[in-house]
Amino acid sequence: MSKEFESGDVLSFLNQERQLAKKREANTRIGDFNEIYFQGKENNLKRQADRCLDCGNPYCEWKCPLHNYIPNWLEMVSNNQFEKAATLMHATNPLPEICGRVCPQDRLCEQACTLNTGFGAVTIGAIEKNIADMALANNWRPDLSLVKPTNKTVAIVGAGPAGLGCAELLVRNGVKAIVYDKYPEIGGLLTFGIPGFKLEKEILVKRRKYLEDLGVVFKLNTEIGKDINIGELQSSNDFIFLGMGTYCAVDGNLKGRELGNVVQSLDYLIGNVNKQQSYAMHDFPYNDFKGKDVIVLGGGDTAMDCVRSAIRQQAKSVTCVYRKDELAMPGSRTEIQNAKEEGVNFIFDLQPLEITSNGVKCERTDFDELKYKDKQIFLASDKVILAFGFKASPADWFDNIGIKVEQSGLTQTSEQQTSVENIFAGGDMVSGADLVVTAIAQGRDAAKKILESF
Ligand code: FAD
Ligand code: SF4
Repeated sequence: MSKEFESGDVLSFLNQERQLAKKREANTRIGDFNEIYFQGKENNLKRQADRCLDCGNPYCEWKCPLHNYIPNWLEMVSNNQFEKAATLMHATNPLPEICGRVCPQDRLCEQACTLNTGFGAVTIGAIEKNIADMALANNWRPDLSLVKPTNKTVAIVGAGPAGLGCAELLVRNGVKAIVYDKYPEIGGLLTFGIPGFKLEKEILVKRRKYLEDLGVVFKLNTEIGKDINIGELQSSNDFIFLGMGTYCAVDGNLKGRELGNVVQSLDYLIGNVNKQQSYAMHDFPYNDFKGKDVIVLGGGDTAMDCVRSAIRQQAKSVTCVYRKDELAMPGSRTEIQNAKEEGVNFIFDLQPLEITSNGVKCERTDFDELKYKDKQIFLASDKVILAFGFKASPADWFDNIGIKVEQSGLTQTSEQQTSVENIFAGGDMVSGADLVVTAIAQGRDAAKKILESF
């Protein structure tokens, strides 16, 4: 049995190595869509948290878009004060279990950690995930008994990270928050995009219950502009927050993109969730790639989610084709590594030119006559997934009520205020396809602006 951990060793960062969460073996994990990381043991979490130097100027905290009180809750974890640490995490972040799982810590807090200079950064993400999971499992809730109710109501369109970030801060301040979403569950792309092996769907169900306990009201399966008119929301609420995301898939005008063997990344991913969760979302049919040779075009997080999903569907082969070199790939390094371990092939420096019924014609972007015979190359495949990213998708009712958009279609805002009084916006629809944590931060910024205006 391992010795019970005692905090306070000032040389902990030297005596205790950075230890990442253990992963399931690749050949086992590709047999299902469950998460790949094991839960951390309490003693290990305390040991890892104790490595923190408690820097006077915590770079980790500055780099985090939510400015989470990282060194403070790390100290609580190392002192066995898990519930207190969870409370502090929730003071700045309504979804810490999600950020712990999907934030690119290697570009944010852990990259900025003082120990990331040869000693190994503190494992901030893994600790955040495990402690926030404890909060959900044990029904730990913040004490809101002293909150004075206001008589204000805010309608929130979109139950993604931006909408949830806004709603949670409002209810903590006595404002009634009603969140509308056209989908059958909360989460936006967290539920209908990111696959279960990165984020199990039950987490969002637990988080919905948590938010409902705090007083957030959800009206799901309700599309604003179709089931309810935006004018109705304007007349029955003091403010509106829009967190509607970006859903117009970029297709690169690629020849052959309309062929039957081609599928858009998000349609493919939502089709999987729809089947696994038995939702009745008829616009998202299931694509079964068992036994198929699959090519995924693109190199971001969405592409990684697609290649790893196809591997789990038992595709015969899965190849990711990216137009630049590996270093230029925008996807998280961790996810690229996970995809490699799971058997995905990568081909770099290839620009797709045309999709045909049996593959993709490409051109080498690193062509050199001494290295290659031909500039063009044909890759055979049964199925092609397009993962080129997303453009703004402003609603057709924006114009009617005067919401202005940029030329790109992104919603114009100044400090989250749109061109219409009392209507705020945030997340991907304002900044373009970005990150969960930045969407949450913008939702919270909008809530702060709303609260200031009372
Ligand atoms: P969304 O999450 O898109 O939520 C918008 C919500 O608004 C949706 O639920 C939608 O149904 C609803 N809605 C829209 N219009 C209406 C309407 N008229 N009426 C009612 N409801 C409406 N980020 C990371 O940080 N880490 C990752 O690992 C990561 N992986 C990703 C993988 C994929 C496949 C994708 C596509 C994105 C990924 N992202 C990741 C990006 C991240 O998911 C987004 O940046 C984030 O979800 C944006 O949040 P949001 O609230 O702005 O929008
Ligand atoms: Fe601790 Fe690293 Fe943050 Fe410093 S930068 S407070 S060592 S987690």
